[in-house]
Amino acid sequence: MTSPPQIEAVIDLEAFAANIAALAACAPTSALMTVLKANAYGHGMIPMARAARAAGSPWLGVATVDEALELRAAGDTGALLCWLASPGASFGAAVEAGVELTASSAEQLREIADASRGASDRPRVQLKVDTGLSRNGARGPQWTELVAAAAAEQAAGHVEITGTWSHFACADEPNHPANDAQQDVFRDAVDELSAAGVHPGLRHLANSAATLTRPSSHLDLVRVGIAAYGIRPDPTLTYETVLTPVMTLRARIAQVKRVPAGAGVSYGHQWTAGRATTLALVPTGYGDGIAIAASNRAELQVRGERVPLVGRVCMDQLVVDLGDGTATRGDVATLFGPGHDGEPTAQDWATASGTIAYEVVTRVGGRTVRTYK
Ligand code: PLP
Repeated sequence: MTSPPQIEAVIDLEAFAANIAALAACAPTSALMTVLKANAYGHGMIPMARAARAAGSPWLGVATVDEALELRAAGDTGALLCWLASPGASFGAAVEAGVELTASSAEQLREIADASRGASDRPRVQLKVDTGLSRNGARGPQWTELVAAAAAEQAAGHVEITGTWSHFACADEPNHPANDAQQDVFRDAVDELSAAGVHPGLRHLANSAATLTRPSSHLDLVRVGIAAYGIRPDPTLTYETVLTPVMTLRARIAQVKRVPAGAGVSYGHQWTAGRATTLALVPTGYGDGIAIAASNRAELQVRGERVPLVGRVCMDQLVVDLGDGTATRGDVATLFGPGHDGEPTAQDWATASGTIAYEVVTRVGGRTVRTYK
């Protein structure tokens, strides 16, 4: 018999499905891609893929070829795009598995074409334009070179160009001038491709933030990640679309003890009890993705009350100060959840630890057991 999980991420699949439906309604004339990279932002890639398909997501998106192949090995057969590959990635296997690949340069397009010679199908390739994020994608003369390569490789029957896309840098700031500028560059890039006789296929640009705030960017498809997991891309904005956080992270208290005034807590004694108090030991730490930066800053919920995390977060454990409150070994300590019952949210943890909620949920791992309801 296995013991109950000490640290558990409870994933609310109904909330996930509702978020996907709400996002699809935001972009009613576009297809929707649910982004599942990095273990579905910490939520568990395979169960979330199944849930996304069941919720009607026609497309799934991941970063690496290996992530895409893992989805195929788990039985996923639907439309699937990946976009980040170093030389030597398993392009041939991806093509055999019906995964659409992204080419960010002429060199990469040729590499995909070469790796797929002998495959039963032509590689289906989407072209990535760098419209201003300056990450992957081709820009300026590199784009012109990629356009020429796409025209040549497609005419030779080596590849089929199925899409053309880019990614925003500042979509979480709806009025940032970079957004319009990137859309302009994208339009010109598509025109250049069409002028070379290559149909752009599916055109897409929008991430969650743009899906929520920028209809002019929806084009043929929107790629939603963080909002599908119920987290607002910009916590300072209120969107019309209602999103429900999908992950609740909780642990079972391992020990409760009374300490005298002046007791130093955890490594370095970065917190000292100002008076006699009751401490509870929560068996999770940075080995499971809890940020040390949250030490002395974040709060948890125990027995309906917010309690402060005191002292430094350790590899396997952290301490909360219950003050004059009580708890029993085995009680649940909620680190974060949707916030509906007064518990902190992943965004609260992000604020406490000086990061973004994307990082808070994506780091959840280590010994955390994910359960789906
Ligand atoms: N598209 C691409 C290429 C991405 O890398 C990501 C994630 O960063 C997304 C879409 C989804 O972004 P978001 O989680 O902000 O919706």
